[in-house]
This record gives sequence, C-alpha cells and structure tokens, in this order.
Amino acid sequence: MPKTPQAIRGTQDIFGPDAEAFAFVVDTFERVRKLYRFRRVEMPVFEKTEVFARSIGETTDIVSKEMYSFDDRGGESLTLRPEFTAGIARAYLSNGWQQHAPLKVATHGPLFRYERPQKGRYRQFHQIDAEIIGAAEPQGDVELLAMADQLLKELGIEGVTLHLNTLGDGDSREAWRAALVEHFRAVKDELSEDSQERLEKNPLRILDSKDRRDQCFVADAPKIDQFLSDNARAFFDAVTSGLDAAGVKWTRAESLVRGLDYYRHTAFEFIPDEGSEAAGRLGSQSTILGGGRYDGLMESLGGAPTPAVGWAAGIERLAMLVGDKGEPLADVIVVVENDELIDRAIAAIGKIRAAGHSAELMASGSPRKRFDKAVKAGAEKIVAFAIRDGAEHVRIKADEHATGSLEKLLD
Ligand code: ATP
Ligand code: MG
Repeated sequence: MPKTPQAIRGTQDIFGPDAEAFAFVVDTFERVRKLYRFRRVEMPVFEKTEVFARSIGETTDIVSKEMYSFDDRGGESLTLRPEFTAGIARAYLSNGWQQHAPLKVATHGPLFRYERPQKGRYRQFHQIDAEIIGAAEPQGDVELLAMADQLLKELGIEGVTLHLNTLGDGDSREAWRAALVEHFRAVKDELSEDSQERLEKNPLRILDSKDRRDQCFVADAPKIDQFLSDNARAFFDAVTSGLDAAGVKWTRAESLVRGLDYYRHTAFEFIPDEGSEAAGRLGSQSTILGGGRYDGLMESLGGAPTPAVGWAAGIERLAMLVGDKGEPLADVIVVVENDELIDRAIAAIGKIRAAGHSAELMASGSPRKRFDKAVKAGAEKIVAFAIRDGAEHVRIKADEHATGSLEKLLD
C-alpha cells in the first residue's frame, strides 16, 4: 500500500468543536466590525518579498527568520504573508485608496511564519485584522481599541486586560533608543546571546525578551516617559482619556514594545491576567491581540507619510478561550421511511431550507429505525414521509405552532 502523505508540520486540520469555535470568532468579528463601520477587504496571500522586508524591517524575527519566501517560475522572490498590515499598506498605495481616507478596513485569513510549532503557535495560523489608515487623531486609536474590547466581550472572553504603552514620536523614540543602548551596553556580557545581537540592531526588542538573563536589566532600563516630547505626551493622554470615556479598562505597560520596527506612539496587547482561566488555557503563548500606530510604514514603501493604526488577533488563540460551542442541531430532520418517497422528501427539505430553517435528510440505514434515529439526534421538529395502507402519509412531530407553519410550508 502506498504511504499516506503527512500534513506539513505546524499546519492544522480544524474540525468539530474547534472548527465551531473558530467560526464563532470569525462570525462575531464580522458582526462587530460592521458596528464600527469597518469595510471588508480581501488581500492576496502572497506579495513580493520586499513588501514585508521593507515595511516590517530586516532586523525583526519575522523578516530575519520566519518568512516563507521562494522564487516563482519567473525568478521573482515572493513571500507568503506573515502579517496583514504590510500588504494592506501596499494596496493602499498601489490602488490610490488615499481618496477614501480615513479608511477603516477589516479582514481575516491565514498567515505563515516559520516558527517552532507548539500549543497556540503554528506555521499556518489565522488572524482577524483591523486597520484605520489616514487618521492622525488619537480618536482612531480609541475607536480601534474600543472595537477590540467589545469583540472580546461579545466572545464571552474574561480575565484579559489591555496593556498599553507609547513609543513616542520619531524623536522621542530615537532618544529613548539611545538611552537603552547605553544602559544595556554597560551589561552587555550578561545579556542573552539574542539580546547582545539586538543591542546593535534593534535595542528596543531587548525589552521584549522572554529570556530570564535579560529580565533584571529590562526592569531597571530607562523608561520612555523621560523622553516623550510634549506632543507625544499629549497624544498618549488623549488616548488614555478616550479609553476611560469609552469604558475600556487598560493598564500601563512601560516595557511593551511590539516586535515590528514601524510602530510609533501607541502600542498595545491584550493579555490574560496572571492566574486567570484564560491564562491557564493559553499556556505560554499568551498574547491574543496586538497592534499599535504605524505612522512610519507608508514611507518605507515609498508612499507619502500616512498616519495609521491597527491590530491583529490570532483566531486560534481566541478560539481556545471561547470554549466549547458544540455542534449546532438541525432545526428540522426530514425522515424518509419508505424509499419510494425520496423525491417527495427532497422537494420538502428544499422548501424548508429556502424558508431559512437548517434541515438534515435522514434517508439511509434501516428504514424502520430512521424515525427513532431522528428523535435521538435531538431535533425539535421532525417531518416523516411514509406509506401507510398504500397511501402517502406525512407525519410532523413538533409543537403545535411549528406543526402549523410546517404544514403550511409543505402544502
Ligand atoms: P508572539 O509574541 O506570540 O510571537 P507576535 O508579536 O509575533 O506574537 P503579532 O505579529 O502581533 O504576534 O500577531 C498578532 C497575534 O497573532 C498574536 O497576538 C497571536 O494571537 C497571533 N499569532 C502570532 N503568531 C502566531 C502563530 N505562529 N501561531 C498562532 N497565532 C499567532
Ligand atoms: Mg511572533
């Protein structure tokens, strides 16, 4: 016998309750993004490699070691998207979507990163994503975060808090960066190998380090607040007071930097509270939603300076927190007790579905047992077609009201 091929490491075949939870996350996101008037966009799964390399930054983990890049048959380097934002920014510039600014868009779908697979971390994973492009005001950040907060509530997820930081504007960020380099250079030999490397290339990332050797030096590293310009401080104050007005709970996280180079001002993550049930379910892969303001990104793609803010959340991680959604029962089961009546039943089930009721046909296995099988399957309404004394006999098992409307429907 030929051997069955294995799935690719880090991919998932999602089925059963997991697939229901996944769909629940996507459906809820679709509903909530409409409440906030975000427009749907569909994006290519692959782009020219430079789209990601230039916008995300060569020194990031994503670009330096996680991208699925390949040459196509024409010899062009392409990359399976590791995130949505860069592709959306490229589309904004190449389609002239400036005319719609401020543009609020939402999308979801698969992303690809070459990472070490583990619980909550895959090589093909899925995100929901929301972006506001061409909005310089802090209200954009507030609206985006209020949407994220409402989404988590509507998903029934509890024990998750918004961790919020500011990276300041370009000048504040540069001054902070210089102070961080000085701070960490003094203890360079005691840092992890990764952080020693980051020191020259991307020192902010040391704050993001999960390595224990780095953590005590991170704790007493200089904080952004000392370096904030008046503008940057006013911007952050407007974001936090807007969040308070919107009733979104948040906590300040002075070391939160986010992995990507393009962030300015607001940076945030939604993280389960320590000791909460959500934290237990997610294990070490704890961040479920992250994002921030990326005012510098469009320029890295050759566009005009364009203020923008966005977030993305892992659908799998959200699905792990929404719990068992169960498989929905059929509204109606149509039972064929005599096989000659199959076409009658097919016609009837068509009418039932057209009227908006979910319906399942029960027409296989022993004809005598089909009705009992339908009862066991838990359907509230059953329509059974049988032949009794040589004549067609339709039996409806439902409450009085439903029986009446089914009779009318099938008449
Ligand atoms: P992490 O620190 O967990 O690697 P990240 O900062 O790389 O996350 P982002 O690029 O901000 O993640 O993506 C936003 C969200 O997408 C994450 O919070 C997480 O929920 C999800 N996510 C990211 N990478 C993966 C992955 N490999 N598998 C599953 N979900 C992922
Ligand atoms: Mg990552």
